[in-house]
Amino acid sequence: AVPLVVARSTALSAQHGLLIKNRTAFENSRKITSVVFDKTGTLTKGKFEVARVVLTGNTVANEDELIGLAGALEANSEHPIATGILSEVRKRGLTLLIADQFNALTGKGIEATVEQKSVKVVSPGYLKDNGLKLPENAGIAGNETVVFVLLNDQLAGFIALADAIRPESADAIATLHENGIRSILLTGDNQQVAESVSKQLKMDGFFAEVLPHQKLEKIKELQRQGGFIAMTGDGVNDAPALAQADIGIAVASGSDIAAETAGIVLVNSNPKDIVNLILFGKATYRKMM
Ligand code: ADP
Ligand code: MG
Repeated sequence: AVPLVVARSTALSAQHGLLIKNRTAFENSRKITSVVFDKTGTLTKGKFEVARVVLTGNTVANEDELIGLAGALEANSEHPIATGILSEVRKRGLTLLIADQFNALTGKGIEATVEQKSVKVVSPGYLKDNGLKLPENAGIAGNETVVFVLLNDQLAGFIALADAIRPESADAIATLHENGIRSILLTGDNQQVAESVSKQLKMDGFFAEVLPHQKLEKIKELQRQGGFIAMTGDGVNDAPALAQADIGIAVASGSDIAAETAGIVLVNSNPKDIVNLILFGKATYRKMM
């Protein structure tokens, strides 16, 4: 039987934006020493808008051509970057070409064939790994997520996108601090954005350009260092890390896989509700003992 005090707290938790799928996770929430946060869609809104389109050389004729090629690929992706690029395609009134042989480069971008040409839309990390130099004018600004467009493996240009930090994120992290809990950022995005977001939110540290399987390894590493680690994320790529963490917390606006894997779901996608989780956990189990 469920102790009455726990049943009541579960109802209260629902009022505070928490879906408790796993009672042990709820019970253990009072032990959390660090919360690891995914960036995109978790601390930020996950709604990218194209801020700049830059051509490098003469591989394509103009910005519209670059956006059109990227859009042809992104029509096959559900990544928030894809949604941002496709809304730019609509704004510019472009007609999309058809992309064949679509292939996701997990955590690095996507590739496909468009009119017999190989096209890739990829991360700064992919360029580095393939010995391609970042263009001089890339000068990635603090808040920009940048993807590079390659045509037959030649750099044609890049697209800088901006995403907004959720208004509740700073408060969530400050309140965790007041309760002696550390916060760490774990993202597949570039170094500059990761550093900028973690500084703006006064977080305790960040890991950038982390591939999906490396997210899980980072959680293991933090667990080996000691402490009780919660992981918060929304993406398909966060699911293994959510499963590995001592407590997995999914953001409801994200993927179904993240929500299925996690013990707790933030129903209103508000990172501040993690604080409710920890305080409720403490209050509930204090009453029982
Ligand atoms: P995050 O931790 O922010 O969810 P991901 O692992 O999903 O990051 O992606 C990491 C990086 O891989 C992105 O910042 C981007 O550079 C690249 N990437 C992933 N998917 C796409 C896509 N559909 N189009 C372009 N770039 C992508
Ligand atoms: Mg995410």
